[in-house]
Amino acid sequence: MNKIPLVDLAAAHQEVAEEVEAGFKRVLAATAFVGGPEVAAFEQEYAAFSGLPHCVGVANGTDALELALRAVGVGPGAEVILPANTFIATAEAVARAGARVVLVDCDPRTYLIDVDAALAAVTPATRAIVPVHLYGQLAPVERLRAGLAGRDVTIVEDAAQCQGATRHGRGAGVDGIASTSFYPGKNLGAYGDAGAVVTDSEQWATTVRTLGSHGGLKRYTHDLIGVNSRLDGLQAVVLRAKLDRLATWNARRRAAAARYDELLAGLDVVLPETLEGNEHVWHIYCVRVPRRDEVLAKLNAEGVGAAIHYPIPVHRTGAFEHLGGSFPNAEAVAPQLLSLPIYPQITEEQQVRVADVLARALR
Ligand SMILES: *Cc1c(COP(=O)(O)O)cnc(C)c1O
Repeated sequence: MNKIPLVDLAAAHQEVAEEVEAGFKRVLAATAFVGGPEVAAFEQEYAAFSGLPHCVGVANGTDALELALRAVGVGPGAEVILPANTFIATAEAVARAGARVVLVDCDPRTYLIDVDAALAAVTPATRAIVPVHLYGQLAPVERLRAGLAGRDVTIVEDAAQCQGATRHGRGAGVDGIASTSFYPGKNLGAYGDAGAVVTDSEQWATTVRTLGSHGGLKRYTHDLIGVNSRLDGLQAVVLRAKLDRLATWNARRRAAAARYDELLAGLDVVLPETLEGNEHVWHIYCVRVPRRDEVLAKLNAEGVGAAIHYPIPVHRTGAFEHLGGSFPNAEAVAPQLLSLPIYPQITEEQQVRVADVLARALR
């Protein structure tokens, strides 16, 4: 049976294999394992790609968000608002920064943070709101920003799933700060863990770099209690090679998403919706189906690598159930969500098979 993976990392590697090998040789020759010229070059290139002056590479996306939050002044006593339907890392980063996690519901059509709910949850203790650009499209940050005018609340964007996405032509972190993850399966994926913070603020960038480097930029000078969270040279080689192709790869994901829209029209599925003004990069193509677990099992049994993002809202996990609360939209959609295989190299033939298997599973 021909398997169709959720993400085909081998196909992506084939496209960059030669460059990666040559780059690895450079890093080995220079023994520039942590930091070094490849990391500096990647930071510059990713900042430019993001339309921002500063990029700081860190060890993973969870650290990136934690350090971004700390850089803007989030700490013990602060409240940080985030959506209940996100990957657990968003909440973990807030908790690790020492702040209180305040969850809000999502829009039932786009699954993006409910902006009105987020603004209604602001209290005098609120220091930040973390919109998550879920599945590859940007949340309406401009509405959050307008609603926060005059308040001392910073928007820290979780851009782990939206590398290259724009809203009204502008990317994540423009006018502020965003964290991202280069986990292998992300649109821009390393060959291990990696992440970054992008920002327009030199001061925030310096603070993130300082925190990630044991609290000091000069050896044995430690001005802050930091952590060890740095990008390594081998990962930077991979990221540079893939960044060169990211715009093309995202365009191929858009074409694949459009093809799914056509193939699935007429089936008993709720198709994904893109917000007006958004250029989506389709990290995940997420539909909603009835009898989801049964449908998922049938897809998997026929070699289709479908998955769920995410089966359990944050407040229903053991780690955060103490928060309590009820988020009807997040709870209503969670048992219906189904992510179909999507990656730049997916073929029309593969997508037709996914649609066929799904149609049969729904019968
Ligand atoms: C992947 C992801 C993260 C965390 O990234 P890691 O590199 O795995 O630490 C955070 N938030 C969201 C929304 C993600 O998808």
